[in-house]
Amino acid sequence: MADENQALTQNYTDLILKASGDGVYGVDNQGYTLFANPAAVQMCGYTLEEMIGHKQHELIHHTHPDGRHYPVSECPIYAAFRDGEVHRVDTEVFWRKDGSSFPVEYVSTPIVEDGVILGAVISFRDITKRREAEAALAQTRERARILEADLQHLSRLSAMGEMASELAHEINQPLTAIAGYASAAKRFLNGSKPDANTRAVESIEKAVDQALRAGEIIRRLREFVVKGNSTQSLEDVGAVVGEAVNLAALAAGTASFEINFHVDPAIDPLMIDKIRIQQVVVNLMRNAFEALENVEEGRVDVFVAAYQSGGVEVAVSDNGPGLANEVRDTLFQAFVTSKESGMGVGLSICRSIVEDHGGTLIAEENETGGMKFRFTLLTSQSESET
Ligand code: ADP
Repeated sequence: MADENQALTQNYTDLILKASGDGVYGVDNQGYTLFANPAAVQMCGYTLEEMIGHKQHELIHHTHPDGRHYPVSECPIYAAFRDGEVHRVDTEVFWRKDGSSFPVEYVSTPIVEDGVILGAVISFRDITKRREAEAALAQTRERARILEADLQHLSRLSAMGEMASELAHEINQPLTAIAGYASAAKRFLNGSKPDANTRAVESIEKAVDQALRAGEIIRRLREFVVKGNSTQSLEDVGAVVGEAVNLAALAAGTASFEINFHVDPAIDPLMIDKIRIQQVVVNLMRNAFEALENVEEGRVDVFVAAYQSGGVEVAVSDNGPGLANEVRDTLFQAFVTSKESGMGVGLSICRSIVEDHGGTLIAEENETGGMKFRFTLLTSQSESET
């Protein structure tokens, strides 16, 4: 009966090995192949006769994923019969008889009988399909990343387009002033007053200041619309947000609401993508301005404060009418808008920029009416605490 059971088990073992899609072969403790299942034979391109009794290491070359060969002394397959442990390898390359190769994962398990290690059995799987799927996924992710960066850039361009006329007005002011100071200087120099030179120099100095101011506005606009690679650098978040507040405020032009900026001076610099964070602030502020269109004594408050260990929280608060019912539940979804000419992508872009920085963006209604949009920027330390 025992013999019958043993024969039956042997039969099943044979059937399983034959049916297995994974390659399975065994080696003795010298590395000579003892057996190989059909999948192993077929995957490696040898015949069974070519494999049995031959040194596995010399037939099925296997290398690190980067192409480096294993010296026998470091071979993870042989390691199993050297140290008696199971060795798992997630990614390696096996070479076929015809010189082609395929990526594999495998397990090398020692064969032990009566406490003696006789060799090892190696079970391997061709992971070409998985690697291809991973590569395709990485490519899709990369494409999505590029598309998202393009969308963010387009959104900055479109914001700038909408702000263009107010901004042109802002640049016109220093230009007009420069013309005025230059004419005054000319008048002084053409006149005969005793202090003419001094006054001409004063006028020219004022013209220079105005030229610098115009240059600064143009620099900021340029920086905002240039399509740069998304790069993070160590920045003073208060200053970065302050610049964005100024830019949005310039674009608000003659609108009659009040803009206040509150910054906690004790916040640490953070690694951020400056332009994209400014994009978030400008977006939130422009939404607030639009909400305040028909509000008397409208007011926007921007706060920059320390958050957790080393992080920063930025909040843009307004005293507008709050959220329209139709956008309440889907606020951060793309193409959700309550505005006739709105695209509804601003908040979804803001959220993905903030999340790229490891932070969160949330909207809440102010107790006194109006909306507050808060976002956090974290250091890697505060991220792990969260
Ligand atoms: P858009 O501004 O193009 O509509 P957003 O994604 O920026 O796109 O905003 C989506 C919607 O969220 C807006 O249409 C508006 O209804 C609402 N919203 C955003 N900010 C405010 C705010 N400060 N006050 C009231 N509603 C707001």
